[in-house]
Amino acid sequence: MQTTATIPTQLIDQFGRRVDYIRLSITDRCDFRCQYCMAEDMTFLPRDAVLSLEECARLVKLFVRMGVRKVRITGGEPLVRKNAMWLFEEIGHLPGLDECVLTTNGSQLDKYATALKTAGVKRINISIDSLQADRFKTITRVGELSKVLTGLDAARSAGFDNIKINTVLMRGINDDEAEALVNFAIEKQVDISFIEEMPLGAVEHDREQSCVSNTETLALLKSKFSLTPSTHRTGGPARYWQVNGQPTRIGFISPHSHNFCESCNRVRITCQGELFLCLGQDHQVNLLPLLRAHPDDDQPLVDAILHGMRIKPQGHDFDLRRAAPAVVRFMSHTGG
Ligand code: SAM
Ligand code: SF4
Repeated sequence: MQTTATIPTQLIDQFGRRVDYIRLSITDRCDFRCQYCMAEDMTFLPRDAVLSLEECARLVKLFVRMGVRKVRITGGEPLVRKNAMWLFEEIGHLPGLDECVLTTNGSQLDKYATALKTAGVKRINISIDSLQADRFKTITRVGELSKVLTGLDAARSAGFDNIKINTVLMRGINDDEAEALVNFAIEKQVDISFIEEMPLGAVEHDREQSCVSNTETLALLKSKFSLTPSTHRTGGPARYWQVNGQPTRIGFISPHSHNFCESCNRVRITCQGELFLCLGQDHQVNLLPLLRAHPDDDQPLVDAILHGMRIKPQGHDFDLRRAAPAVVRFMSHTGG
């Protein structure tokens, strides 16, 4: 039985921004090894260093009491976490939570799409960087494109109507596929977002060489498709264009070409229970020891989260020209 904590019903940071969106990474593990996300030889965390699913559920419930309206479950690959469905069932229909959404590489969706829909997951983002099987394998180092495409179709059959493809273009690897990927999104009646590669974690290639600017991708796509700027907003960094005559929207997440921090409404919780206040900065509050030291009292967690609001930075500081990554942790650790 939790003791009653004094809980504010809104989270407002030091710059007056309302934080109503959390991204929770439930594992650092993954069945893929995407070149831009992970090093080839990754060491993963021991199990007891990672939040239990019960701890994940406790955090989500507490954040929702503190005014959070949207939760994205991510990773690593969330669907490779054992019993991950338990968490979706626990939080998917939580009163006060408008949206429980998922980011996945799609490899397990064939198995879980229907159960995710039943559990209350509203939207799914699926990462697809290439439609060419051999290239897909090169980028993910191990992934099978056919499995992911079957997963995408399973999500469509399960009745998800807000599916979005996430694509990272890398120069000389898949930067010639933007048009084909948009045509694929139109064919499947889904949205697609292009994410600029961010300097998170040390990888084998030079990110300054590989990063493709969304300014360039947008210019190319404008020459191929009839596009209108869309007012669609998710409260996040993506800016959307509507493909005229089609339901498909094209999003651009552009940390390099456009700074999106002034309207930031989100914080991230790593699979180790660190509350990161900004994807591109190191400001954090460690919630795991508080979760474990106070299993029946939320007040220390509430106080720590409020402290987080006071130290949330104004913005990130990504600069690909630096020799070292802006942030040493990988996206798979922080949760994309
Ligand atoms: N495994 C799931 C997936 O791939 O969708 C969820 C986690 S993954 C870290 C979330 C998103 O982050 C993916 O769309 C991936 O392409 C993106 N991502 C990973 N590392 C990135 C980086 N360094 N820069 C930009 N996007 C990255
Ligand atoms: Fe795994 Fe997603 Fe990272 Fe690819 S982007 S290695 S699928 S966590």
